[in-house]
Amino acid sequence: MDNIRKCICCGELKPRQKLIRIMKEYSSGNVIVQPDSKTFGRSVYLCYNEECINTALRKGLNKGINKYLKTNISREDLKGLLDGQLKS
Ligand SMILES: [Zn+2]
Repeated sequence: MDNIRKCICCGELKPRQKLIRIMKEYSSGNVIVQPDSKTFGRSVYLCYNEECINTALRKGLNKGINKYLKTNISREDLKGLLDGQLKS
């Protein structure tokens, strides 16, 4: 179970490698997507699908990512970070 994480949108449990990791880095406070293994921070996970990404953006960040990460990233910034994650 160690590698199983939960998508914050649909609540599905999946192997960590199959989810997008969104992290607020401890040292800088920056929000980053798919950090490398040397970066430490508080993380949430999202499925690699448009539905979950759109839900995350639509739901209101204050009830989702900003709440979990205790940050206040804007919708535009988050969209920019997530846009690169979906294979076209
Ligand atoms: Zn999901």
